[in-house]
Amino acid sequence: MSECIFCMIANGDIPAKVVLDEGDILAFDDIAPQGPIHTLIIPKHHYSDMGDAVPAEMMATIFSAVPRIAAMKGIAESGYRVIVNNGRDAAQTVGHLHVHVIGGNPMAHGMVHFVDVD
Ligand code: AMP
Repeated sequence: MSECIFCMIANGDIPAKVVLDEGDILAFDDIAPQGPIHTLIIPKHHYSDMGDAVPAEMMATIFSAVPRIAAMKGIAESGYRVIVNNGRDAAQTVGHLHVHVIGGNPMAHGMVHFVDVD
């Protein structure tokens, strides 16, 4: 997917602050961090979201990297939130599967804020 920004990052066509480059996955810092630590983990292969026939092994590879990323970022003990925005209603803005790892400060309880719907 030549027009996909995360494919471009995976291919090295645009820069990113890479945290982990390991086999089929890449982790890099979010360009607009929503906390002191905000890292994204992506598969290098393009999958639009979790429903895009992602092999179970790939899911396992991505999610098993989460605690290691947290340790590398120094938030393993303090805690962190792991988020996948999947599809339109979840406000996914980049159509390449990615997992957010966010931490570094205490967060408010709860995680879902629906927009007003009448
Ligand atoms: P989502 O809303 O779950 O699709 O999240 C997409 C995330 O990608 C947002 O947090 C953006 O700030 C982040 N993002 C977009 N472009 C880049 C980029 N070039 N490098 C790093 N993060 C990016």
